Amino acid sequence: MSNETNTTYSIINGQSHQSTAMLDVRNPVDNALIARVSEVDEHAAERAIKCANNCFIELKSTTAQARGDTLFRWYQLILQNKKRLAELVTREQGKPLKEALAEVMYAAGYVKWFSQEAERTNGAVIPAQTIHHQLRTLKQGIGVVVGITPWNFPLAMITRKVAPAYAAGCSFILKPSELTPLSAIELAKLALEAGFEPGAFQILITSKPQDLVTQLNSHPSVRKLTFTGSTAVGKLLLEQTARSVMRTSLELGGNAPFIVFESADLEAALEGLMMAKFRNAGQTCIAANRVYLHSAIKSQFIEMLKSRLQTLVIGDGLGENVDLGPLINSAAKQKALSLLDDACKHGANIVYQGESQTGNYLSPVILENVEPAMAIYNTEIFAPIVSVIEFQTEEQVVNMANDVDVGLAAYVYSSNIDLLHRVSMVLDFAMIGINEGAISNPAAPFGGMKQSGLGREGGAEGIDEYLEVKYLCQRF
Ligand code: NAD
Repeated sequence: MSNETNTTYSIINGQSHQSTAMLDVRNPVDNALIARVSEVDEHAAERAIKCANNCFIELKSTTAQARGDTLFRWYQLILQNKKRLAELVTREQGKPLKEALAEVMYAAGYVKWFSQEAERTNGAVIPAQTIHHQLRTLKQGIGVVVGITPWNFPLAMITRKVAPAYAAGCSFILKPSELTPLSAIELAKLALEAGFEPGAFQILITSKPQDLVTQLNSHPSVRKLTFTGSTAVGKLLLEQTARSVMRTSLELGGNAPFIVFESADLEAALEGLMMAKFRNAGQTCIAANRVYLHSAIKSQFIEMLKSRLQTLVIGDGLGENVDLGPLINSAAKQKALSLLDDACKHGANIVYQGESQTGNYLSPVILENVEPAMAIYNTEIFAPIVSVIEFQTEEQVVNMANDVDVGLAAYVYSSNIDLLHRVSMVLDFAMIGINEGAISNPAAPFGGMKQSGLGREGGAEGIDEYLEVKYLCQRF
């Protein structure tokens, strides 16, 4: 590895931040070192906050139209650099190149969406009780925003925060996952090239997230935290932001039920499951975690799934036709294997398992007779393991599906339109795929109920997370 070409930097005030502390970034394919990134210390973080605060004041004198135009240029630059960004995502995160390309397009979609939403942050004129008053509301950017993002979608989890924040007139400090900082840095460089003010999007890299995030969350200039990651870390951060009553959005973990009724089109359900379970090797927050199969179709569906899994190509995501890359690291593989082991010890049985794999790779597994008391039922598996539960009635499956403390995504397959409506109405999940396994869309609100989070990203709702409503009462 040459230091010259593979050293990259945190970005403060539009400049590369030089430091002696360097973070190693490794390829999940073989754990090879692919780059080193300069880390920030508390002094650098303090400088970034000051710069973001000055930038927020500067942004107050820009128009929503101008910010929308800048976002649109960022969108175009992301598209122009699509291949390079996708290769970087594959190298640092492991997902197959075709999925990385899809992520670039998805990430760019949020930038385009919010370039247009910038102009739609309308206020209102409210009828007053006297003819001597006018009551108005207007919306203003909340201030300096801190964003913390995970490794599983290293581009999209960033654009769906930074784009609405900038559209609303906020400056943004991002701490991306220490496992995937490279694509975040490239995104920020493209934003600066598009015309973002130097303090509008800064990137702080650290291998000690707890220290840095605690510093950011307790700073009086920071007005909002937006976090995507695990429910456990989200809860810790919510405790921190409660101390200063800081506005907080949380996109946390899920435990999605994937329900196939006897009336379902099984081919369509299989396609949906391949998307909802095997995208990113199962490492998505909306991954099908509990697959409920009606007893009348269970055996047939499992046979169809087995045949399909045999066709999957496992390997380095940069290779041709690869469907399944490695898991993010050895700890992720270890966690998946121990969930599997625990389930088997408690009565589940493996009905399909691909060839055993070395390194961070894990072959697909189908596990039958999974029970609610098993750890695998109540934990995000984050691996290509299909956990099957058999059911007989609509009421039974809805009760089982809802009986968890999270509520992000759910999937329902049937050709009975009345049943689909009934079930969609009673599932305690914020996003429901109805005969559809791919639900994410920049135009739709993404988020969770219960312990899956607070707030929504994308859609008409996404920009509100970065706006304050101000009420003006004027007497004439
Ligand atoms: P994680 O919670 O371990 O880490 C997320 C981020 O928090 C990273 O940037 C990490 O450095 C930082 N972090 C970790 N510990 C911290 C601490 N003590 N203080 C401050 N910051 C800390 O999650 P992950 O493993 O990176 O991502 C996977 C999780 O993210 C899964 O639970 C998944 O469901 C969830 N996720 C949710 C969504 C959503 O939209 N709801 C989307 C993607 C991922």
